[in-house]
Amino acid sequence: MLDYTPKEITERTALRINPCKTCQPVGAMYAALGVHKCLPHSHGSQGCCAFHRMFLTRHFKEPVVATSSSFTEGSSVFGGGSNLKTAVKNIFDLYNPDMIAVHTTCLSETIGDDLNALIQDNPVAEGKYVVHCNTPSYKGSHILGFTNMVSGFINYLSVKTDTPNGKICLMPGFVNPGDMREYKRLMKAMKVEFTMLPDTSGVLDTPMTGKYNMFPDGGTKIDDIKGLGDCIKTVALGIQTSEASAETLKKKCGVDYKELPLPMGVEATDEFIMTLGDISKEEVPFEIEEQRGQLVDIMLDIHPYTYGKKVAIYGDPDTVLGIAAFALELGMIPKYMLTGTPGAQFERSAAELLAKYAVEDCTYKADADLFLLHQWIKNEGVDLLIGGTYGKHIARAEGIPLVRMGFPIIDRYIHSYMPLVGYKGGIRMAELIVNALMDYQDSHCEEKDVEVVM
Ligand code: SF4
Repeated sequence: MLDYTPKEITERTALRINPCKTCQPVGAMYAALGVHKCLPHSHGSQGCCAFHRMFLTRHFKEPVVATSSSFTEGSSVFGGGSNLKTAVKNIFDLYNPDMIAVHTTCLSETIGDDLNALIQDNPVAEGKYVVHCNTPSYKGSHILGFTNMVSGFINYLSVKTDTPNGKICLMPGFVNPGDMREYKRLMKAMKVEFTMLPDTSGVLDTPMTGKYNMFPDGGTKIDDIKGLGDCIKTVALGIQTSEASAETLKKKCGVDYKELPLPMGVEATDEFIMTLGDISKEEVPFEIEEQRGQLVDIMLDIHPYTYGKKVAIYGDPDTVLGIAAFALELGMIPKYMLTGTPGAQFERSAAELLAKYAVEDCTYKADADLFLLHQWIKNEGVDLLIGGTYGKHIARAEGIPLVRMGFPIIDRYIHSYMPLVGYKGGIRMAELIVNALMDYQDSHCEEKDVEVVM
């Protein structure tokens, strides 16, 4: 399928091919789904909203609810104020959420609708809320949209009172519900009181009950978002995704923050656990120590298969860096690291990571596309690809095994239930990586070399 990708790399400035990101509202919608009884609302045309819902549904294999201002030609010319006013009334009348979280689209941003003024001009009933964030898709990616929506909740709702609540605010990064469950398990084990914003567990991984529930039990409670201003500290996981929202809370309510990489692999998880321990002043319990020991044992076992293997990792910036850190712990070489999301932080962090392991001759780039990744691979191949579904054509064209991790994964199942964070997530990553390499060996070695015991 990609036979015509040229090996020769020429500079492109005005074209992205297979862009390795999606648009801001997708991230904003995902963040809004992680708030209890909150309905994401897309201020634009129906087509945008349908695309964003579909994108999330394909990854999570769950129904994704959201509403739209349903722009027509008139609103495109004269602005979407009256559409939003009607939408807010209809949504509260028909679906009765506690909150509507509005994000903009390219069209409403280009018109220049002043969402804050529109929201202030249309007061809603006591105990109901309308919040917003700006998500112009000609800037950033779904990661920035996620960050902006989290900041939007804080801007509208969080307040500081005179009474600290003894909790931490955990900003989880752009991760799956399975990861969010794992964070909660670890924080509980470390006896840390917390509010996590957002929390999509219990929303996008709900059990089959035979009954449709538009607002499942999960999600951060509105009162807890209000209380973020009284938290003792923010722990912001995934620097590129969470630091700006942590800064918003700091500016508004004076809550100090510590930013950490996503806790993927041994060292980053150690850092996360130690940070929790510093806050709670509790010893690390045996159940966590045991799991760490299991992960280290597994890493030793699989080392002969992973050591020295070259890997290309692509996807969201913090996820790529987290996987790369774990790959280095496994003795692998992250030959290529690529994200479609713009931002200098990614390249800075990639350079620091490689320098720490004294690994040279690796290439990394932000604001890039998978076409470029394919060209890099054509010039010098790798043993393994790690990333989302959109790299599968490269894997097929070049005959390289692909391990699916990150976002989006739209051609496989169950991934969003399985954590990649924490020691448990490390065990999952190790399993996926080593089994892909061993499957490849089984299917490509000569018949006489097929081994039963490996
Ligand atoms: S028009 Fe903009 S907001 Fe709508 S789907 Fe396209 S990129 Fe996203």
